Amino acid sequence: MVPNKTKILATIGPACSNQVVLQKMVDLGVNAFRINMSHGSVDDKKFLFDQLKKITLEDNQRPTILADLAGPKIRIKNVKNGLILNQNDKIIISNDKNSDEENIIISSGFTFGKISKGAKILINDGRIQLEVLKKISGHSVQVKTLIGGIVEKGKGVNFPGVAIDMPALTEQDRIDLLLAIEEEADWVALSFVRSAKDKKMVDAILKEKKASIPIIAKIEKWEALEHLDKIIDTFDGVMVARGDLGVEIPQEQVPLIQKKIISMANKSGKPVIIATQLLETMVESPTPTRAEISDIANAIFDGTDALLVTGETAVGKFPDKVIEVLKKVIIETENTIDYNSILQPIGHEHHTADAISHATCQIANDMSINFILSLTHSGSTARMIARYKPSAKIIALTPTETTYRQLSIIWGVTSIIINEYSKSDDIPSVSAKFIDGNNILKKGDKYVVTGGVPIGIAGTTNFVFVQKAK
Ligand code: PGA
Ligand code: MN
Repeated sequence: MVPNKTKILATIGPACSNQVVLQKMVDLGVNAFRINMSHGSVDDKKFLFDQLKKITLEDNQRPTILADLAGPKIRIKNVKNGLILNQNDKIIISNDKNSDEENIIISSGFTFGKISKGAKILINDGRIQLEVLKKISGHSVQVKTLIGGIVEKGKGVNFPGVAIDMPALTEQDRIDLLLAIEEEADWVALSFVRSAKDKKMVDAILKEKKASIPIIAKIEKWEALEHLDKIIDTFDGVMVARGDLGVEIPQEQVPLIQKKIISMANKSGKPVIIATQLLETMVESPTPTRAEISDIANAIFDGTDALLVTGETAVGKFPDKVIEVLKKVIIETENTIDYNSILQPIGHEHHTADAISHATCQIANDMSINFILSLTHSGSTARMIARYKPSAKIIALTPTETTYRQLSIIWGVTSIIINEYSKSDDIPSVSAKFIDGNNILKKGDKYVVTGGVPIGIAGTTNFVFVQKAK
């Protein structure tokens, strides 16, 4: 059973992409892995899927995989080797195919039409800062260096405050999404989402391939902050991608935005993930800073569903220790939370499913019940309950393997594979079989069971009952 309510997501990369380290990370508590589709060839990405699929969890299932699409990220495509910019140096930035190699060449697919004099251009997560002096053409601008540094191929380029006319899905994203579908990724994340409409291009490809994968919007563009409500409503989850977000907006604004996004996602019952620089010092050092621990604990207090480490496990020196630290901080922090006091009022929809889920949590809290069993095919009942963050463990009993894996990133849920059941009359016995068969309660202890009938239709959560262990 998963001891942590807040889930642990880790990025796979060269530092951990072998069976020994991955198995260790799973044993230490990773609940799902992210494959960053920004890097490598198709074969490199296939290798990562393969490595993860070879790992078996306790119940013989493979780990959950989140495929993270690069999205319209602008990068340096070409630059003179070893170019160093010093303060006040002038240079031309261009995405014109014919530009000469004296310039910095960046990703094509957009025009500089909306960029005006005085706009800032940031390179390498904001380490190098440039200011636009003049627009030369639709494809090039002259800039002045404010803060210099070495300009390297492949580094990201951000245009804070400027609306860039790149499509939501690039050609590489299409190829990567097809690979994610073929490899049966359990979740897909889309980077640099700007509006709810960005999901349409992903949906069209999923539909064409008859695939159904839930999509997470990565919030890391300034434009997204103007449409948070609709984005959260439309996508299946959100990620606060603090790496790029802290470049797109002044980084002192990130903490408040993070709190706001967690609260909005909690209210609408969508999973929210906090990502990047959670344990940045552990890329090099075996121990974190107090400030990092404090940041993680605060995200948990605020109600995040999951925490995602990126470079720490992908390229860091201590991928397994990172998981150990995360797990310890989560357990310690969760032990101090009074779940009775955080039970939110029922959501504004007033659906039967919402009322039953809320009542389930209220019953469990009121009666100090330790287990809520949710019988679910699509996972929707378990997600509905998780949004109210009960103190009881949420056990999702499901005959569906994709549901089993998708639920691994949801707060408080342990999913268990069971045999297919088809009659509503089976529900009390299926739940009793799990509780009594695993000896997890003493005779006479109570547990709550919830789900929906008719069986197998998503969103029909409509019953709750209390049963005693035998
Ligand atoms: P990335 O996303 O690692 O794909 O850039 C995370 C972030 O921006 O924080
Ligand atoms: Mn990012």
